[in-house]
Amino acid sequence: MATDYYAVLGVRRDAGPDEIKKAFRRLARELHPDVNPDPKTQERFKEINAAYEVLSDPQKKQVYDLGGDPLSANGGGAGAGAGFGQGFGNFSDIMDAFFGTASQRGPRSRTRRGQDAMIRLEIELDEAAFGTTKDIQVDTAIVCNTCHGEGAAPGTTAQTCDMCRGRGEVSQVTRSFLGQVMTSRPCPQCQGFGTVVPNPCPECAGDGRIRSRRTLTVKIPAGVDNGTRIQLAGEGEVGPGGGPAGDLYVEIRELPHQMFQRRGDDLHCTVTIPMTAAALGTKVPLETLDGLEEIDIRPGTQSGQSIPLHQRGVTHLRGGGRGDLIVHVEVQTPGKLDPEQEELLRRLAKLRGEERPLGQFQPGQQGLFSRLKDAFNGR
Ligand SMILES: [Zn+2]
Ligand SMILES: [Zn+2]
Repeated sequence: MATDYYAVLGVRRDAGPDEIKKAFRRLARELHPDVNPDPKTQERFKEINAAYEVLSDPQKKQVYDLGGDPLSANGGGAGAGAGFGQGFGNFSDIMDAFFGTASQRGPRSRTRRGQDAMIRLEIELDEAAFGTTKDIQVDTAIVCNTCHGEGAAPGTTAQTCDMCRGRGEVSQVTRSFLGQVMTSRPCPQCQGFGTVVPNPCPECAGDGRIRSRRTLTVKIPAGVDNGTRIQLAGEGEVGPGGGPAGDLYVEIRELPHQMFQRRGDDLHCTVTIPMTAAALGTKVPLETLDGLEEIDIRPGTQSGQSIPLHQRGVTHLRGGGRGDLIVHVEVQTPGKLDPEQEELLRRLAKLRGEERPLGQFQPGQQGLFSRLKDAFNGR
């Protein structure tokens, strides 16, 4: 058998219809050509479609579970076998009986592709901004060192099954109203593998793989964000029989920063300055991702104004350049004044003719008032 549809979808052989559907949807979203146009991914997309076509259809699934391939020519023609089923085993047996294709299948391989694995990795903002390398601990199945994936104890080998003589299936001739019919089914002694392992490897109990903890060094590119997945091909679970490993996905989780808030590749922070500094201008030291910098507060700066520091944000993941660091200014009005300060401020107010200010109201562009007015005018 060429393809293990269960392994393709990453489900166990006893998975129920809901589990199969869920696994398919998850993979389809991930591998859909619209999302992922890479040709290798498209090939996998076709595979999972084929796997789902078989495993979601009870009849095809039964054919497949018994060792047939419902998508190949000799098992096709869905539905035609319904009604014939009883008495002959299953649909593919009947097709075999009519077309004599029973001997074309051969034993199935003990080796199958392993499943993908995922691990979450927490990183700091500056690591996301500039990229880094991290050592991660992964727990996955690896090829058994004792039997090198063969599954047989050292000094022994797998032997050709004597019941099916290595064919992986056994045939039986029965009489029926169609005459003599030859049916075949997976060999019960070797489960269709064509070989038996008389002395399974003691290390892996014949599975060809063992669980192991490894340390991997992962290169994290600059510009990753919460939820970014880094694919490490072939670093996932080794398959049964020492089959090729699935992929490992490292999902990034960025830890919150005490000063900067990230929005896309821009960073935001707020600096609070006293009213006098806003009026007179000042320089404020700020520890940016690139080190200590002086923020130049111009004389006459208003509360709510923002000062952009270009190219001081997070590196763009694709293409060069960086986002900006945007410093929002908040002007603090002094609260408690002692008599001397109050006197000074009163003098300042008098000098500026601001003893009884009227305030300045402007028509709000996006304010509540203008929106109400628009509503009244039917705009
Ligand atoms: Zn072993
Ligand atoms: Zn056998």
